[in-house]
Amino acid sequence: MFNIFRKTEAKETQDKIGSHLSKIDYEKIDWSKKDENYWKEVMTPLQYHVTREKGTERAFTGKYNEEKRPGVFHCSSCGQKLFNSVTKFDSGTGWPSFYDAIPESVTLHEDNAWGMSRVEVVCSRCGSHLGHVFDDGPAPTGKRYCMNSVSLVHSDDL
Ligand SMILES: [Zn+2]
Repeated sequence: MFNIFRKTEAKETQDKIGSHLSKIDYEKIDWSKKDENYWKEVMTPLQYHVTREKGTERAFTGKYNEEKRPGVFHCSSCGQKLFNSVTKFDSGTGWPSFYDAIPESVTLHEDNAWGMSRVEVVCSRCGSHLGHVFDDGPAPTGKRYCMNSVSLVHSDDL
């Protein structure tokens, strides 16, 4: 019962995510000037925790884990295009996974939190935390971009 509740909660949360982008011309905004108060106002609590506090949503709870629609996945904070659906694959991890990012859309940082050596992936435009990238992905890149669903919004949902 608890798990079912969590899954429903995550999906309902996701439906609100990115709604602030529908009212604005997100390509013409200087996103680097937005402060924490702005993000708190436009984001859901889970989205804020993941994207601004480098949190991680629970596996298998995100709306886009099993997403199959063709399109583009945008940053749910600033609307920048991040991943094309053709690079999405089923990693079995419970998080939306891609083998490549759209060129220049993400920045990589060394992340040694929690006693693990990982590579953090952030949006190159607004700095939102998206997830991590690993070297065990499929061809042609061998990369696995392991993303939080709440950090993304599908082009059909924008
Ligand atoms: Zn962004």
